[in-house]
Amino acid sequence: MTRSKIIPKKQPTVNELIEGILAGNQTLLARAITIIESTNKENRKKATEIVNACFDRPSQGIRIGITGVPGVGKSTFIEAFGKMMTKAGKKVAVLAVDPSSTLSKGSILGDKTRMTELVKDAKAFIRPSPSAESLGGVTRKTREAILLCEAAGYEIVLIETVGVGQSEIAVHGMVDFFLLLKLPGAGDELQGIKRGIVEMADAIVINKADGDNEKAARIAQMDFNKALHLYPPKENGWVPKVLSCSALHNKGLEAVWHLVEDYLQQGKSSGSFDSKRKQQRENWLFETLEDHLKRDFFQNKVVKKELKKLIPRVRENEIPAFSAAEQLLQLHQQESS
Ligand code: GDP
Repeated sequence: MTRSKIIPKKQPTVNELIEGILAGNQTLLARAITIIESTNKENRKKATEIVNACFDRPSQGIRIGITGVPGVGKSTFIEAFGKMMTKAGKKVAVLAVDPSSTLSKGSILGDKTRMTELVKDAKAFIRPSPSAESLGGVTRKTREAILLCEAAGYEIVLIETVGVGQSEIAVHGMVDFFLLLKLPGAGDELQGIKRGIVEMADAIVINKADGDNEKAARIAQMDFNKALHLYPPKENGWVPKVLSCSALHNKGLEAVWHLVEDYLQQGKSSGSFDSKRKQQRENWLFETLEDHLKRDFFQNKVVKKELKKLIPRVRENEIPAFSAAEQLLQLHQQESS
């Protein structure tokens, strides 16, 4: 390798990044998202500038959350669904919220090379799963990443997550439409289904409805349809639907898109689309505040030192956790004033 090749390229300036995003440049969009995900102080300043600039470019886009157990076919579905969208002339961005990374330092969703076709598609932007260095900050930065993608002209943002509860709730809170992928042959599984997740879903799609699975998929579809009637109606009046598809064989995907369109139409005419977005923006404000306050507290040097001293005392029952917390909060207050 020649020397010039190993010298890292000059970092783009904030203005270059903003201009790049607005011009739909995928490389600069990716770099900007990395800055957004960073917890470095300097980068946080840059991130604010970038987000503010992108905020001025509101889009008519739609945000769709896609969840399901590993192996259900999320990647395959996103690949096929994404291709269908780009063929229809739409720009598609794919982001991932991966809960495994914070817990195991590994990634369930990491292998984005599976979307081999979509990766090559100029109308698609695929953000690979976050790297180990940016762990923790990622889920809460997904909203900002959505904003950047939309400013770059992506009309459809697909946000993939794998279910361990927490991440699904987070994704549900940042999308317009929440889609749950299920496997056929789910008769028994219906018993063990996570109620909360079904309750959040705007659509359940039984994937792998092909070959020997077709009959099982039909039965699962009926079972879920019945089961959904047992749930209270959604606030916005939407009645979740159950469909089946074969992501692998490109069957049934159009029906999924038509369902999303119905949902949009209904939501926009009733005003529920707007009110959901308003609520999500309010939540975004509170979550960002909580984040900052937490970081501010835990990164304060004096607090950190005192916390270290107090932990063993709390563990040994020498001081109630409540009083220790009170002491630390007071210390933080003094530090901040
Ligand atoms: P993910 O872990 O949810 O992202 O699942 P993948 O998309 O990686 O799919 C897991 C496996 O299921 C792969 O071997 C896919 O080829 C297969 N698969 C995905 N969709 C379908 C489908 O519609 N029909 C069939 N028969 N297999 C599928």
